[in-house]
This record gives sequence, structure tokens and C-alpha cells, in this order.
Amino acid sequence: MTNLARTAQLDILVEGYARRPNVAGTVSLVRDADRVIIVDPGMVAARDLILCPLRELGVRPEDVTDIVISHHHPDHTVNIALFPMVPVHDFQWVLEGDVIRTRDADGVHLAPSVRLLATPGHTPQDITTLVGTPEDVHALTHLWWSAEGPADDPYAPDRELLREQRERVLQLAGVVVPGHGAPFRPSGSTPR
Ligand SMILES: [Zn+2]
Ligand SMILES: [Zn+2]
Repeated sequence: MTNLARTAQLDILVEGYARRPNVAGTVSLVRDADRVIIVDPGMVAARDLILCPLRELGVRPEDVTDIVISHHHPDHTVNIALFPMVPVHDFQWVLEGDVIRTRDADGVHLAPSVRLLATPGHTPQDITTLVGTPEDVHALTHLWWSAEGPADDPYAPDRELLREQRERVLQLAGVVVPGHGAPFRPSGSTPR
């Protein structure tokens, strides 16, 4: 990870959870250089749970420059339209207005300290956003739902691929920001 700077500011706007029938996706704000990036504007109990913390951080929805979606499930995408039309980045496309640009997300730098990785596992369309802050490298990813599991992702079509990508991310990041839980530092008991 030699070319990832460590200048970003990361704020978790919503800490996700999955306690059926109640589900919220983790929603994050990443600021680096001239970019203001929302990662996974997904399902929450009320939209103010995204907008209020954003406002408290001094960010207006129209200040947001980019949206990244970790994958295509609606619990991580339903609130994209809270933000005026900005580029939406997924594993293969950048969507803006009615324009689709195709590119492979793996290795794409959105800012000096923000890099996308293609990490198929939870779904074949998953990407991880690596964020370098002065404190650590954070992986915003659905390779883990939460620190507590499930160890075996029930949605993963290929268990081996999930394991491979988890290992890859653990090599690169010191903190995991999972799809439905609090950020955690991986340990020996973290599911591989
Ligand atoms: Zn999902
Ligand atoms: Zn999810």
C-alpha cells in the first residue's frame, strides 16, 4: 500500500446493524483533498440519521462530490438520491447523469488517500474502499457484516473467493468498517 496517502478524514455517519427485521447499512463520509465522498448511502430508520450527522460535520448534501457503493444490494444504495447528481462509483462503472463510463474499480484512486479495490465475496460485485487517515488504513467493506460475524456469509456464492479477499484486505488495512456493525481492529478471532 505504498501509494496510499494518509491524509483523509473518515467519519461514520451511521453504524449499521442487522437485527431482522431491522437493518441499517453503515454509511460513511470520507473527505480528502477536494473530494467529499459518501460510501454506501443505504437503508436507515430515517433519512435524518444520515443528514443530521452530516450537517453537524459542516457538510451539505450539495457539497458531496462522489458516491461509492460497496455492492448492489438495496440496503446499501436506497438513499443515493439524497445527494444531488454526483458520480456514483461501483465495481465496473461510474454513473453520472445519463452517462455510464466503464472502468475496472480495482486500483482506482478517488483521492490521494482513497483507493478502490475489487473484492468479490459477499457478492461478485463487491468493492472495498481503502481510506488512509493519519491514524490508520481503514477498509470500508462488506466482506464482513460486523466483528461478530456471520463467519460464513450466507450470501457469498463462493466461500473460497470470500476468504481470499478477506485475507487480501487484512494485509492492507488496520481497521475494518463493516457493512452492518461498528469499526473493528481485526484479531485472531476475526473470521477469514
Ligand atoms: Zn449485501
Ligand atoms: Zn448489507
